[in-house]
Amino acid sequence: MRTVVVTGSASGMGAAIRRRLEADGDRVLGIDLRGEEIEADLSAPDGRAAAIDAVGRLSGGNLDAVVACAGLGPTTTPVSRIVAVNYFGAIRLLDGLFPMLAGAPSPAAVAISSNSIGLVPMDDPSLLDAMLGDDEPGASELAARLDGASVYGMTKQALARAVRRRAQSWGEQGVRLNAIAPGPVLTPLLQQSIDDPVLGPLVDALPVPLGRRAEPDEIAGLVAVLLSPVASFVHGSILFADGGTDALVRPDHV
Ligand code: NAD
Repeated sequence: MRTVVVTGSASGMGAAIRRRLEADGDRVLGIDLRGEEIEADLSAPDGRAAAIDAVGRLSGGNLDAVVACAGLGPTTTPVSRIVAVNYFGAIRLLDGLFPMLAGAPSPAAVAISSNSIGLVPMDDPSLLDAMLGDDEPGASELAARLDGASVYGMTKQALARAVRRRAQSWGEQGVRLNAIAPGPVLTPLLQQSIDDPVLGPLVDALPVPLGRRAEPDEIAGLVAVLLSPVASFVHGSILFADGGTDALVRPDHV
């Protein structure tokens, strides 16, 4: 039986990923603010450290897979919290759990990015540079001057780049790391954007060639595939699961 860590497992996609992996026979160690095996606040260094310690205790230091799914939406205030959870909460946890993955027979990890990486302007790279330069205080300060939607897209862009930048170091140890970039998925996080007077109309206007929003189970199925032997040569990939929006908006961006 594999042992898999899933962050954000109390709601939305994380909960669907937990259900799917457990149905496939995996043991899931969920991490969330409350109600899961490990209660931790991934927005803060001590919460991340406590989560990593707890995973070590509960798993005996041996993990098969990690899914970094916990995240906050663009309507979050203060905006700097989006940086703390979506980028640093995800990447610090992945890096902290990497040594526990390295000895497994077929280890893999998946980070949940977003197709907003192709929709949000990235003209000013300062915030991206601060995140990728591991400057959490600097990134937090820069984010406080921007709007939530831009910061959200940039945290997901930084996360996708951080995944690709680890292809060599993780690959050398045989640990596969990929990201999924979902489009609109019917979860409480999306509902918060739909209910927002400014973001709601933008979400409604977003063209989706398949003409619908996704169910969380559809993303969970993709996570299951990426963690399985079917994807044994897939590493360092950013997989768009967005009903075709990215292909429509940026057809030549390959
Ligand atoms: P959700 O709100 O249903 O679930 C997010 C979970 O993350 C919650 O259980 C929440 O408690 C947890 N979380 C938030 N802050 C945390 C913290 N500080 N510490 C620990 N856990 C914390 O949202 P969802 O839509 O299922 O989102 C899952 C991931 O997918 C997020 O990273 C989100 O950015 C991303 N995403 C969502 C959509 C969408 O349309 N729903 C699209 C693209 C990407």
